[in-house]
Amino acid sequence: MSLIYEGKAKRVYETDNPDQVRVEFKDSATAFNGQKKAEIPGKGIVNAAVTTRLYGWLQDHGIATHFIEQLDDRNLLVDKLTMVQLEVVVRNWVAGSLHQRTGIPEGTTMDEPIIEFYYKNDDLGDPLLNEDHIRLLGAASPDLVARLRQEALRINQVLKPFFLQRGIVLVDFKLEFGWDAMGELKLGDEISPDTCRLWDQSSGERLDKDRFRRDLGRVEEAYQEILKRVMS
Ligand code: ADP
Ligand code: UDP
Repeated sequence: MSLIYEGKAKRVYETDNPDQVRVEFKDSATAFNGQKKAEIPGKGIVNAAVTTRLYGWLQDHGIATHFIEQLDDRNLLVDKLTMVQLEVVVRNWVAGSLHQRTGIPEGTTMDEPIIEFYYKNDDLGDPLLNEDHIRLLGAASPDLVARLRQEALRINQVLKPFFLQRGIVLVDFKLEFGWDAMGELKLGDEISPDTCRLWDQSSGERLDKDRFRRDLGRVEEAYQEILKRVMS
């Protein structure tokens, strides 16, 4: 079946059903808006399996997602979504761009999670938007922004204890949403070590894409460790 879209980490294919697509997870990794590139052997297999496990867990906890079934080690069958052109980031601890923007040290805890919206636009480097910018762009109505915020917080409440039971601190993560053929708003894309910051609870060791971004080494081992713990 023909390729609809090839992104940095995944390929999206049409299927016999016009309302469903197949998502293939690649080993390619990029950072800093595509400036840094590498292959991480086995990454696609880990991310497909971790996404399958987490989306199953989320669905069991009442979250609407695009996930239908895992077809093989790199391919998921999902509802075809018309994507909202926003990335929704949830943060429980200060890290990454929040640290860079505010100067607050990495690893500082926060009383309440923070929600941020980024414009899905590679040419602009996915800039941070406030709600007035979102309205100006017409990227989402104020009502939809409120729903995305509420849904992201619910997802955080389901995922945080899931990871903590496995000795992992969910520092921050990115979500994407879209509408299915019935007009239902669903969680799309993936949740994996590519899209989350996951720190070992006891040692603080980074078990996510920061190992690649920051040349920390043992990238494959970290992804395999997350797979092992998430599957337990
Ligand atoms: P990027 O586009 O940032 O390079 P990927 O390589 O992950 O990212 O490409 C996957 C693309 O598929 C993204 O643009 C994502 O928004 C889109 N996508 C994710 N889930 C679905 C879905 N259920 N239906 C249609 N498109 C989706
Ligand atoms: N993130 C992502 N895709 C992006 C940007 C961010 O999955 O295009 C994730 C990232 O892995 C982290 C969280 O969103 O878990 C917050 O990222 P941040 O804004 O700190 O940016 P970064 O430092 O990762 O560039």
